[in-house]
Amino acid sequence: MSHLLENMNPQQQEGIRSVDGPVLLLAGAGSGKTRVVTHRIAYLIEERGVPADAILAVTFTNKAAKEMSERVDKILGHSSLAKPTLATFHSFCVRVLRRDIEALRTNGVGLTRTFAIYDETDQQAVVKQALKRLGIDDKQLKPRVALGRISWAKNHMIDPQEYFLASTNPLEEKIAHIFEIYKKELFKANALDFDDLLLETVRLLKSSSEVRERYNRKYRYVMIDEYQDTNRPQYELMKLLAGSHHNICVVGDEDQSIYSWRGADIKNILDFEKDFPNSKTIRLEQNYRSTQIILEGASAVVAQNTQRKGKNLWTAREGGSMIGYYEAPDGENEALFIADRINTYLKASGNLEEPPRCAVLYRTNSQSRLVEEALRRYQVQYHMVGGFSFYDRAEVKDILSYMKLVQNTNDSIALGRVVNSPPRGIGKTTMETLERMALTTGISTWDAIGRAIEDRLLPARALTALAGFKRLIDDARAMLGADFAAKLTEDVGGLAAEDGDTGFDPSAFEAAAPAEEEDDFPPVEGNGSDTSFDTSFNFGFDFGPSEEVSTIAAENATAPVTDVDAASFNPFAPVVLKANAPTLKRSAADNKPASAQDRAAERIMSDEKPAFRAPGDPATLPELIKFLNDRSGYIRALEEEATPESFSRIENLKELANAAQDAQERGETLHEFLDHAALVSDADSYSAEARVTLMTLHAAKGLEFPLVFLTGMEEGLFPHSRTFTDPVGLEEERRLCYVGMTRAMDTLVMTRARYRRRYGSDMPEASVPSRFLEEVPQRLVEDLGSPGQRPSFNSGYGNSYGNRPGSGSGGHENGERHYSYEDEDQSGSRSRPAATSTRAGGSSMDNIANFFAARGQSV
Ligand code: ATP
Ligand code: MG
Repeated sequence: MSHLLENMNPQQQEGIRSVDGPVLLLAGAGSGKTRVVTHRIAYLIEERGVPADAILAVTFTNKAAKEMSERVDKILGHSSLAKPTLATFHSFCVRVLRRDIEALRTNGVGLTRTFAIYDETDQQAVVKQALKRLGIDDKQLKPRVALGRISWAKNHMIDPQEYFLASTNPLEEKIAHIFEIYKKELFKANALDFDDLLLETVRLLKSSSEVRERYNRKYRYVMIDEYQDTNRPQYELMKLLAGSHHNICVVGDEDQSIYSWRGADIKNILDFEKDFPNSKTIRLEQNYRSTQIILEGASAVVAQNTQRKGKNLWTAREGGSMIGYYEAPDGENEALFIADRINTYLKASGNLEEPPRCAVLYRTNSQSRLVEEALRRYQVQYHMVGGFSFYDRAEVKDILSYMKLVQNTNDSIALGRVVNSPPRGIGKTTMETLERMALTTGISTWDAIGRAIEDRLLPARALTALAGFKRLIDDARAMLGADFAAKLTEDVGGLAAEDGDTGFDPSAFEAAAPAEEEDDFPPVEGNGSDTSFDTSFNFGFDFGPSEEVSTIAAENATAPVTDVDAASFNPFAPVVLKANAPTLKRSAADNKPASAQDRAAERIMSDEKPAFRAPGDPATLPELIKFLNDRSGYIRALEEEATPESFSRIENLKELANAAQDAQERGETLHEFLDHAALVSDADSYSAEARVTLMTLHAAKGLEFPLVFLTGMEEGLFPHSRTFTDPVGLEEERRLCYVGMTRAMDTLVMTRARYRRRYGSDMPEASVPSRFLEEVPQRLVEDLGSPGQRPSFNSGYGNSYGNRPGSGSGGHENGERHYSYEDEDQSGSRSRPAATSTRAGGSSMDNIANFFAARGQSV
């Protein structure tokens, strides 16, 4: 028997061996689904002789993809040159689009491979502009709300027109208008948002059989983990990738479907069997992760759901410690209890074979703050997933926006972000004038700047400031110069070579490119006066008969804006042509060993027009960042500010240059670097080496930890109050609880605060225990010494303890009735590093005793 099948149960073995034809692997948490996927990849390579690069596995986070790749390397015992493609849906789509998106262009119109990726901040900026244009107050309709609806529509593959036709009230109609503007603006900016990455890939593979067949020939074996969380576009993509070979294996657990709010659809599981009638369904029943007690507890909770097929999971890990429960007086004490427990755990497990690892899970990100503070008091190092990432910092985003603009000058959102940052005298009025100009003539803001300078359309001061800004960007582009363009050309060649043996015909692409190039240079002249792009906003929804209902793309195809866009989007456009210009030859002949900055500086000093660098003399990514940092005056402005805050911002920009250096060493291009920054998502920052990880329940999917804390087990928080009147939403919350509980391998602790400060109230409010707590059989639970609290939470939902102080309801035995927030505030104990655990042991015991004694509570 292959070593890859050893230590696998018969069903797992079947999952690994069934590599031909469609396979649906449905099984509960911790049953080894992901393990089957990794072993299956190794099996294909080792036992079936499949070339590694003919395998594609899609997972939910970059982290999971990376982990999978490491596991495969480990199983194979070597790291071969050819690698399977292990990606997330989004990173896979970026790859496809960076290479092939231009196949979607018609008559030279459409996005190009230098497209920008818009993150949520960028998206919001576009929506805000749309609101402004439609005269809608952003307090009346929050950009986030509009974006949420737009994203929902996209994920259900509904376009603005359909949305409009389906709308039943004025608000929905407004959103449809915003949606239309949003879509056009992104198109104009040569930009895609995260949803588009998927949608455009699906559109591409559907519309171009050449491209689709090429990918089908390349990826002969496709696997998808966490299949229960795929949405409709992902489902379509999966089908397109399954091609005609149908060697597709999807793996999931319907009880862990927790992304319906992003459009994930449980129907995708049912449809799989319908779309692939000859598929083989495999079920796994043994859980290898958790103890029997944890598994029983989690199963009992999810069993309350009605919308499930139901399954029997068992584990050989009999017994185990009880599920812990702790009911703290308030959120701070809940956090201190957890920190104390973790501290004890880390100290006690020093001589274990495996390094100790634990996780604190919560429903919403904001709950992390108290836990973080408590861990800091204990000087316990932790790793927080999500929250504020490095790439979200304002200064980092600013410099990245400069880089985005360098890559794609039509990126109006990036432009808007940096045009006056640091302040360079380009005011709001100037920008509004330029944006109006861009809007009415259908050109990008960048081109509007060019035209304003050329035709002296603004006051002299504004023009000088704009010219300075324009030259900065032009010079940065020039620094990348010949290489910038050559690299794009090379990418095509490079990818083609890589695919050489898998059926990709590079000539097809090469043949297509020059033809497009021709089309990409329509005269810009004469389009300026055409205002059809602008007015179409007003008439966009004035539909006549159905044949007049044009799609956005078709509409754009006739809009003059695209002509202009096409000229500057084209990767083969001016940059390549100018690379052969005389200035370049001169500099090559001079053979000056000047650095990128020197050259740029020289040009600036001599007031020479930006020249392009000689081939072989390109600016590196860190050079580009340093140039932008300095020439933009960004660093200088921070230095002048001279506050600890501004110095730390400077450090962050240096760190960004370090990140760029790493990227450069990996051979990444500018757009690859920007893609990476855009795709770093919440769950990616998870580090398996971290001893203590803080994250949301959603981010914890697929992971496992010896010790898990599930916090904030309160009605309204978890389950979220939003779902009280929504049975479907409530079942999803319950699945989320199941996901959280089943992350625990050895020990699970659930906590709750009796009083919690809620948004908008200055007084902490009494809470009611989460119904999920009460769904855990009482015999599996052990109270961990909740102060003033009877040792059980199974009092029945509604018969709540922990209501108003002195209310006498439920089973308050002693201290709780006397407990009041005013007391605590007066004592100042909020900022005192008191710990709370009673049985966790350790030096904090005295503190705890004192803490509660001070408020008349017994420990
Ligand atoms: P989830 O639903 O949470 O994603 P999963 O079904 O993907 O879980 P895995 O993460 O693959 O489960 O496996 C859970 C744990 O059980 C892992 O530590 C894995 O190594 C272990 N495991 C799985 N199968 C076996 C096996 N046959 N023998 C020993 N350990 C196993
Ligand atoms: Mg898994």
